[in-house]
Amino acid sequence: MNLSGVDSLNMQPINNELQMLLKDVQTIQDSFCKSNRIYGYCYLKEYGVVTDITGRENEKTFLKEHFSEDKRTELIAMFSDGNLENVITQQMDSEYLLLQGIAIRGEHGELIGVWVMMVILSNRLSLDLKLPENIMARTSEGLDEIVLFVQSLTEVFIRERSRCINLKSNLDEVEVSERKLESILQRNTVMTEILKNLESEDDFTGTVESILKMASSYLDISESCLFRINPEDDTVDMVAEWTKKSEFRIMNRFTRVRKEQLPFITGRPFTISADAMIPDDFMNFFGKYGIQAGVFLPITVNDRLGMYLGFVQMDIPRKWDIEEVKFLNDVRKVVQSILSRRITRNSLASSYTTIEAILENSGCGIAVLDMANQRFLYTNETFKEMLYEDSDRYDLDGLLLHTAEFPQDRLEYYAVHEKKWFEVSFGGITWIDGRGVRLCTLYDITDSKNYQKRIEHQASVDYMTGLLNRKRFEADLASELRSIKRYKSSGAVIYMDLDDFKNINEGLGHEKGDLLLQEVASGLERIAGIRINTYRIGGDEFALLLPQDKLGELSSILGKLQNLFDSTWNLEGKEYYCTMSAGVVLFPADGDDANVLLRRADYALRHAKVSGKNRVEFYSDESSEDSIKRLDMERALRKAVDEGCREFEVYYQPMVDTNKPGYPCCGAEALIRWKSETLGFVMPSDFIPLAEYLGLIVPIGEYVLYQAAERCKYWNDYGHPEYTINVNLSVVQLMQEEIIDTVNKVLNVTGLNPNNLTLEVTEGMAVQDFDNMQHTLEKLRKTGIKVALDDFGTGYSSLSYIRNLPLDSIKIDKTFINDVGEDEFSNVFVETVSKLADTINVDVVVEGVEVQEQADALSNMNVDVIQGYLYDKPLSKEEFERKYLI
Ligand code: C2E
Ligand code: CA
Ligand code: CA
Repeated sequence: MNLSGVDSLNMQPINNELQMLLKDVQTIQDSFCKSNRIYGYCYLKEYGVVTDITGRENEKTFLKEHFSEDKRTELIAMFSDGNLENVITQQMDSEYLLLQGIAIRGEHGELIGVWVMMVILSNRLSLDLKLPENIMARTSEGLDEIVLFVQSLTEVFIRERSRCINLKSNLDEVEVSERKLESILQRNTVMTEILKNLESEDDFTGTVESILKMASSYLDISESCLFRINPEDDTVDMVAEWTKKSEFRIMNRFTRVRKEQLPFITGRPFTISADAMIPDDFMNFFGKYGIQAGVFLPITVNDRLGMYLGFVQMDIPRKWDIEEVKFLNDVRKVVQSILSRRITRNSLASSYTTIEAILENSGCGIAVLDMANQRFLYTNETFKEMLYEDSDRYDLDGLLLHTAEFPQDRLEYYAVHEKKWFEVSFGGITWIDGRGVRLCTLYDITDSKNYQKRIEHQASVDYMTGLLNRKRFEADLASELRSIKRYKSSGAVIYMDLDDFKNINEGLGHEKGDLLLQEVASGLERIAGIRINTYRIGGDEFALLLPQDKLGELSSILGKLQNLFDSTWNLEGKEYYCTMSAGVVLFPADGDDANVLLRRADYALRHAKVSGKNRVEFYSDESSEDSIKRLDMERALRKAVDEGCREFEVYYQPMVDTNKPGYPCCGAEALIRWKSETLGFVMPSDFIPLAEYLGLIVPIGEYVLYQAAERCKYWNDYGHPEYTINVNLSVVQLMQEEIIDTVNKVLNVTGLNPNNLTLEVTEGMAVQDFDNMQHTLEKLRKTGIKVALDDFGTGYSSLSYIRNLPLDSIKIDKTFINDVGEDEFSNVFVETVSKLADTINVDVVVEGVEVQEQADALSNMNVDVIQGYLYDKPLSKEEFERKYLI
């Protein structure tokens, strides 16, 4: 179907969803073309030609002959070059042929594809030309409407559908990583259960069967069993078995089977997947029992091959993955260690004559002690080799010899210097000469101890940051809360959430996002010290739990927290700012129930967020009241946006030019107001933070931009070509990749001269991701629009920003103007900034000028533009135009 001739190498494969969408597009195209007597097909930038020309073979041949591939390719390329035209007509050799391209654009004006339309104009046909049969021709009348219709129909259609597709694929991604985490947790839980069997006193085969059951059910393996190799006649018995369906048990058929019949009995492990090259002997064996895939693992007894564990899949072909094989091998280790322990015990009970030989060979250390004389009667090799450090040895010997009575017949002993764990059991036996003696057996349990510890640790650890996880947080909080009841103690929870993490994650990529979370985690751990627990609750949320004895340090910890977030984060050699907001609850003051406390901590956190982020809030009743108000506002805000932002109104505050006599108005700053049906008149400082938090600032900001640009264009056309408009841009908008397209679209639609538009950005946003911001601002400025740095002097300001950011003007914050003329610092600040700005050719705007004295003080400070109540308040558009459009 490569009709377009456009290079198809870089095209994306078409997935199912898209295929369905294209089927619908084809149907629309077919009926549309037929009823309007035109021909056409659809080309998508990412996928190439995606629909077939409507019509029979001879029609298609005619079209391909008359509308050459070159022309069509050329037509499509004219759009791809970023042409903002929506309809392009391409000249053909014959007058009666009309080739037209209609752009399909996305939400932000970006090119998604092109409809290629081929029309045969009946009124231009020369009389001697005869068209082949059933070729559709039409007059050019009404063609424009058709074009418009095609355009709007497909845009709406494709846009909506592709949004659904994107949403769905995002969801799929989230599910995958959650599933992965879930499976790690589950595996650890199963392994912990299996490990408990190390202690079991049940009979060996019963214990093994219960282990097989747990392991096989977890991995959904159809059968598993344990084979014992009988060394005296080289036969094999099945001694334990677990099957998914009990009727398939074959253990009773499996006695005294000759070793040769079981190909895996070689001493080596085997993992055989259904799709692997299966050796001949295994082929026969698998065929005989209907096995599709298997894992076989040897178990040794005193260094000799003694048993085999088998896990086999009967019903379906199965491919083992690495994690599964690792898990099964861990199961093997557990069975092996149970076995060696049992063997040792059984042997002891047998005759004295073989005792020494057995004791020497057994895997555990054995010592027989004469308690009356406090000396060793016998120790085996293993016991002697268990410890090398003299101090450990001395300590252990002392314990065994000098403790008259042990509270239990088994204890765990830790050799401090060698970092080894032993399980020591004691018993009284009659020695060979008839005396009563103490028998001690020692097992080196260091491995299993470490293993168990690791597993317990894993189950409560967040795999990405290494901090404790949410589950553990809930458990620890619950235990702290229990102790407040018992011991009348108290404590606190600090609940944190990174500000605008979503932007970093989406803007810089998930890898950087993960890196930042890891950096934050280690920063938090450094603050926390040992006795405070640090948790990652999920996503970009963290918590600190302060028990009673750390409560006194709460304020110093909060201070350190704030310091931590005041400096930059180094991600792969680059510096980024990322702040955090936190909510603090105290228990039992704010509640003694975990759920209540967490909800309240969350209230306080949300409160911190909507009060402007980068702050810590303690819970108070107001926070919960606030959070109800916030919910109301959230609902109203969403509704207002859904209904097309009509409740928002843009006000205009005049700005005056101080370089001209009489300080005439030179433009305005657009400032939003919300006339909410349910909440009344709301000022921007009351809802912009929430709108940013909810991401709603993007559509709202676009609305303001559009309204303001339209207004300014009107003023410019109405006799004030010098008026400019300043529009505030939130960090959330600036982080959106589409911002450049949005601004271009607005300029395009309103026809405003880009030189008359200034976007105001705050320095707070510049520091979050300087490079990205610099890049975006540069791109914006290429289109001719201007950039102002707003609220200068309040944020993480540094003069280097002025130098390194592509700027046209700086707006010095109101706080410096309040006492300009009176306070020396303010004067110097304004003067210095103005001088500096002058040398790098940047204008200085001063806002918040309320009284004449301030204006006077500024008059010899190199300020270019002033804005403030002294000249005018923000005015509705009608009022502004009444006063300034003369
Ligand atoms: P801003 O960008 O610093 O805007 C200037 C604020 O100072 C305006 O408050 C304005 O009414 C006020 N102002 C101007 N002259 C004086 C004066 O002489 N004295 C005093 N005391 N105040 C003066 P407003 O309209 O309440 O806006 C507050 C903030 O809300 C703005 O601060 C801006 O950060 C944000 N905002 C307003 N409209 C938008 C918008 O469309 N988009 C975004 N993202 N933010 C907006
Ligand atoms: Ca502003
Ligand atoms: Ca400002």
